[in-house]
Amino acid sequence: METKILKPDDLNIMLCAKRLKEGELVAFPTETVYALGAIATDADAVKKVFEVKKRPLDKPLIVAVASKSDIQKVVKSIPDKAQVLIDKFMPGALTLVLDRADIIPDVVTAGSDSVAVRIPDNEVAKKLIALSGAPVVVPSANTADKPSPTLSSHVKDDLDGQIGYILDGGASDIGIESTIVDARTEPPTVLRAGGVSVEQLKKAIGEVKTKREETKPKYMPNAEVMFSAYYDGMTDNICARYDNIVKSGKTAVIICLDSSRASYGNRKVYTVGSNYRDYAHNLFAMLRKADGEHYDAVIAEGVKPDEDLADSLVARLIKLSGGIII
Ligand code: AMP
Ligand code: MG
Repeated sequence: METKILKPDDLNIMLCAKRLKEGELVAFPTETVYALGAIATDADAVKKVFEVKKRPLDKPLIVAVASKSDIQKVVKSIPDKAQVLIDKFMPGALTLVLDRADIIPDVVTAGSDSVAVRIPDNEVAKKLIALSGAPVVVPSANTADKPSPTLSSHVKDDLDGQIGYILDGGASDIGIESTIVDARTEPPTVLRAGGVSVEQLKKAIGEVKTKREETKPKYMPNAEVMFSAYYDGMTDNICARYDNIVKSGKTAVIICLDSSRASYGNRKVYTVGSNYRDYAHNLFAMLRKADGEHYDAVIAEGVKPDEDLADSLVARLIKLSGGIII
């Protein structure tokens, strides 16, 4: 099967919706990362998603709907705090875990009686889901050994020949996954920190429980990833580490914010932008780039606690570095 990258005009979105309705898979942009979609109520189509992604069947998929009123179709009930979160953060990078409605098959939820649901904040995604007339599963459009794709070309690199179409929506806005909140517990439990920060959640509904994420990384870049703690003198420490690696005959690249670029002199650097949103947005792409350019080591700058998205970035960097903090 030839994999075509399509311009996301109405005709192509209709073509992809038709494809989904026929039980096939389509990749499309969301504001977090590119998704590999299948109709969530079609168990056979959903099974193909697990096969193509090489995803273990015990890892449930997130279901996306196109509008707030469609959430009711995939869940049994919506507790008050869940409704507040829906009103405040949807569409957006928030996923809620709620009691699953009977139309969602076991394969989607790995047999759990809960379902994870979100509304992507992306016009192409919303149009596609609305036109397909059903909820759509939206795991990231990469194989299990690769980082989440933030460009259509990443999807093509990973899934070429395995899916018919990729709708091209340019670069994903946020570049990290959605925040997942189990809204069936009191207080609600943050299962994964992502595009909506824990601070934002607390502001909306008060207390939340946080559960430590599993630290086993899904994707290990070929390069060794080191992640610096954040403190005064961080850049000096990173320079010293870099110089040691280079002295030992290996190559390294530093991932940093624009503002600290100058601290690294003529060492190899990838700048990720001016703030932590940009850092989150560009992190996965930079790791792919480092692998593409065959660096032996990647040293990622630490992030200041309590800033916007700091939690989510630290969680990801800890996973990617396998806990190696310098
Ligand atoms: P990914 O598609 O890789 O972003 O992963 C989806 C995430 O959603 C995984 O961490 C799943 O464990 C989580 N998830 C999906 N469905 C459920 C559910 N019903 N209950 C709890 N977590 C879920
Ligand atoms: Mg993923």
